[in-house]
Amino acid sequence: AKTAGRRTHYFFNDELRAQTERQNTIHNRMRDGLKRHEFSLVYQPIVDFSSGKVTKCEALLRWKDEDGNVISPAEFIPVAERTGLIHELGQFVLEQACIDWVTVHKSGYPIEVSINRSERELNDMEVAKQWLSCIKQHGIPTESITFEITESLLMSNKQRQLQILHYLRSQGVQLAIDDFGTGYSSINYLQRYPVDYIKIDRSFLNQAPDDRVQVALLDALLRVARALDIDVIAEGVETKRQWELLQQQQCDFAQGYFISEPLTLDKLLDFLRKWQF
Ligand code: C2E
Ligand code: CA
Ligand code: CA
Ligand code: CA
Repeated sequence: AKTAGRRTHYFFNDELRAQTERQNTIHNRMRDGLKRHEFSLVYQPIVDFSSGKVTKCEALLRWKDEDGNVISPAEFIPVAERTGLIHELGQFVLEQACIDWVTVHKSGYPIEVSINRSERELNDMEVAKQWLSCIKQHGIPTESITFEITESLLMSNKQRQLQILHYLRSQGVQLAIDDFGTGYSSINYLQRYPVDYIKIDRSFLNQAPDDRVQVALLDALLRVARALDIDVIAEGVETKRQWELLQQQQCDFAQGYFISEPLTLDKLLDFLRKWQF
């Protein structure tokens, strides 16, 4: 038993070392990739049910490495969060989104942009202040920017992060809780932390309208949100039936493949031209 234990011990060390090495490799490739402009943003339109118009879009990061492989953010964001490169990536995302916002506005579409922020990006007040000055330098009203943060952060009681979120919001930036319904999702936390939107995760809706429990939960959530004056954005809307259910239940916004996949800036402008007029 002793030798087996020791072997397991070695095994874990080897695993850990291999994992660290993999992470370091990805980290270095990302760092170099940033310099080589391998990162870009795509935008997914968000429709306002009350007007039927696209009034927002979410900026999503893409990485096409030097070999031309497109790597999913679901793969590289967690690594960037662990190694700290998320700060540089996040800076790039905000800068690029601001530049693109100006282009979209000049093209005649007054839409807002939603930007994902990792928990780790939110632990420095100076950084938050730099974000605000970046937004202002581009002549963008802070109200046009929404930061999306995951629900686990709001429920974690991390005072420094929450203080920064309060500060950003006091400066006009809007806040959305991302992936709502995937974690602890205690509805009662919503009243503690003022946010402007909740984004209900795809998994919350994937069986609706066939699953009566999902429909009932959606209905309950929409009622609570309405009472708290929080707007609800349904994510991952893929079918006409989901769209109709959401509309009927008076959900505020929808986002998903049923409307559009995430688009490059050019394609977004084409899309807006066709959708809005
Ligand atoms: P997320 O913030 O929940 O973004 C929504 C994800 O769902 C996106 O995946 C989007 O392409 C995908 N999606 C949109 N509509 C549909 C649909 O109808 N069906 C399905 N099955 N999927 C849909 P993506 O772009 O691969 O991003 C994955 C995650 O990576 C994001 O999830 C977000 O957590 C993270 N991420 C992306 N960009 C950034 C960023 O700039 N900063 C940070 N910190 N995280 C980011
Ligand atoms: Ca998001
Ligand atoms: Ca989400
Ligand atoms: Ca409202």
